Amino acid sequence: MAVGDQPQTESGVPSRPVRHERLIGREIRQVDFTKSTMDDVAALARAGTDEGMVLSAQQQTAGRGRHERHWESAPGEDLLVSILFRPRPALAGEINMLLSLAIAETVGSACDVDAVVKWPNDVRVDDAKIAGILLESTQDTDGLAVVAGIGLNVNSRMRHRNPGGTAAVSMRELADRKFNRDLLLNDLLERIDCLYGEVRAGGTLVTMWRERLETIGKQVEVTFTSASSGAKTLSGIAEDVDSAGRLIVRDENGRAWPVSAGEVTLQSSAS
Ligand code: ATP
Repeated sequence: MAVGDQPQTESGVPSRPVRHERLIGREIRQVDFTKSTMDDVAALARAGTDEGMVLSAQQQTAGRGRHERHWESAPGEDLLVSILFRPRPALAGEINMLLSLAIAETVGSACDVDAVVKWPNDVRVDDAKIAGILLESTQDTDGLAVVAGIGLNVNSRMRHRNPGGTAAVSMRELADRKFNRDLLLNDLLERIDCLYGEVRAGGTLVTMWRERLETIGKQVEVTFTSASSGAKTLSGIAEDVDSAGRLIVRDENGRAWPVSAGEVTLQSSAS
């Protein structure tokens, strides 16, 4: 195209399409099946793979969530991906927020529904879980590596299943049609990349995330499990989240407890 053929801006200067080099998803590897994309990407991280690499599997034989819980998926129907991040340590806390926001936006816009986040890491629609997120971090010679796993129910039929006692739903069930998973993955990675760009530029996602959290204002029961002292429970109102993404729970004595995601299971009842 000659310069004169390029679209003009109002000032008459030819405008060029801004080329945005995508970081997250600049390399996407696909496998038919694997035990767990989490383990595969962790191994690739140890081998020095660059940030932004994405591994997508048609099927996982041992997909997992937090606390080694099983992640169910129908072969070839859903999105099962792990992404390698190499964030500055100060940004590590934003990754769970940006993933849950990006998934909720993707589901919300594709299915025309209101997708919300159950603190800390579930994306839900109408009280049913549509996606789970798992974060695992290691420190290697290249610094901090965070492997982020996403299981998103796309075309499988989940409504009448109750994995691990959790009400579940898929995008197909919400929209009454099947989805092209490649296009969906592309859309999701685009959103993740964009939000990651914002946090790397110094922004924070807490305000947006708080607005998506269905947990705020609810009565919750938080179970902490530790090898030394077993399980302990804290009951109270989920009042807010702080800048690190911790849930602030106010107990019946009026004391506020900041709760970190890693250590807890959360039950919430209607507000
Ligand atoms: P919870 O879902 O109770 O908040 P969690 O956040 O720790 O627990 P995850 O680590 O996100 O859970 O995922 C594992 C859990 O998700 C399983 O124990 C099961 O309850 C549920 N689950 C497994 N497969 C699916 C699926 N395809 N869709 C929805 N939920 C699922």
